[in-house]
Amino acid sequence: VIVCGAGPAGATAAERAARLGLKTLLLERRALPRHKTCGGGMPMVVGRELHEFQSDGVVECDVRHMRHTWLYKDPVLAPVNKPGDDSISLWMVQRSVFDHALAMRAVAAGADLKDAIAAKDLAVGPHGVSLRAETPGGVEETFEATHVIGADGANGICARAVNLRKNRQLGIAMEVEYPHTWGTGHESLREDVIHLEYGQMSRGYAWIFPKGDHLNVGSGFFRPRADGRGDSTASDQMKRAIYAYLDLMGLEYQPDRMKYFAHPLPVYYGKERLNTKDGRVLLCGDAAGLINPLFGDGILNAIRSGALAAETIAEGRSADYTSLLHRQMGSHLDSALRLAKVFYSATEMIYRHAIKNDAATNIAARVFCGEMPFEELLQRTMRRFGSLFLGRRRSAS
Ligand SMILES: Cc1cc2nc3c(=O)[nH]c(=O)nc-3n(C[C@H](O)[C@H](O)[C@H](O)COP(=O)(O)OP(=O)(O)OC[C@H]3O[C@@H](n4cnc5c(N)ncnc54)[C@H](O)[C@@H]3O)c2cc1C
Repeated sequence: VIVCGAGPAGATAAERAARLGLKTLLLERRALPRHKTCGGGMPMVVGRELHEFQSDGVVECDVRHMRHTWLYKDPVLAPVNKPGDDSISLWMVQRSVFDHALAMRAVAAGADLKDAIAAKDLAVGPHGVSLRAETPGGVEETFEATHVIGADGANGICARAVNLRKNRQLGIAMEVEYPHTWGTGHESLREDVIHLEYGQMSRGYAWIFPKGDHLNVGSGFFRPRADGRGDSTASDQMKRAIYAYLDLMGLEYQPDRMKYFAHPLPVYYGKERLNTKDGRVLLCGDAAGLINPLFGDGILNAIRSGALAAETIAEGRSADYTSLLHRQMGSHLDSALRLAKVFYSATEMIYRHAIKNDAATNIAARVFCGEMPFEELLQRTMRRFGSLFLGRRRSAS
């Protein structure tokens, strides 16, 4: 098996494939460790998905509270757990460190790793797949395998090479890494708190995620515009949201001195085929468009889909990968998509009447961790807001 891309999806796929006895090559375009544009926040259940994962030295902050705002005002600081419970936490990592740890686990499990070499093309034949790759110096190499797992992210080549995901939908997000000494700045800047701001960004939110020696400050658009067109002002809007957060927190900055990282978000928009009919090429993670359309996170689904892709190959069921994946996460993602449509069209109302409630943070955290299904949150939301929401739509039309 060739696994193309050593992010969470690919590194997990390679580790699982090697563990299951498949001869595995993990191919990565960049030299590892590499920076990845990301907030690096994930539910702690990721630890359960990764067999015997050592989180020490990788997880920099263990978050227990969320601080929500509307237009940077009207704050609510709430715990992710119910009183007396301590089971839920959100892991904060630097992706360079986390992804490298996952790639090293794949190597320890027996996978070969080749980094600093980019896949350029795939050719699927009756007996397998031939993958052409090239180093930055222009040296070409061709690899042969029975299967290729395309885990090459939002800008990869695998999906295109085999004519999959032709109608993908992209959001976009941006982050800056602001050096920070804990104990300075706003009193609510704490290593166990994430900050979420909903009013500034239409169709998304802005955040501050704590890291060992810095704050990850970012913003993103998770839903497409109603007219389906691109937005040439997106970059400026995302930057403005970041500046406003830094201002709010009393942190000084020089806009032209900061490094801005922006990257597309291939958000889930409905079920689609994610493997070639012969089961030779399978897509996972961002390459498969599995970003949660409600929260905009993709690491957990990347890990889950990478593991499943490897397992279906080992079990000789790779042609059924798409249906197995949909069985595992399709209904959750469909409900998350319906929730996202409601949430991002009535965000202020939901902020005032739900997010500000005591129980809301715990519910959001349980959904994020998979402890409450998206379906249940959708039903609760529709029970609470359905009539109001339909009323708004009627009066708007
Ligand atoms: C600003 C921002 C903030 C985010 N915050 C969060 C967050 O807090 N939590 C969360 O869960 N998700 C977050 N996401 C989404 C998350 O980053 C992705 O969903 C996740 O990285 C997907 O993992 P992946 O392994 O599928 O792809 P990636 O992590 O993108 O990995 C793909 C790998 O493939 C390699 N590659 C690409 N092309 C080739 C090629 N031709 N040949 C070989 N290798 C190739 C790339 O170099 C890369 O290493 C965020 C995204 C953005 C943009």
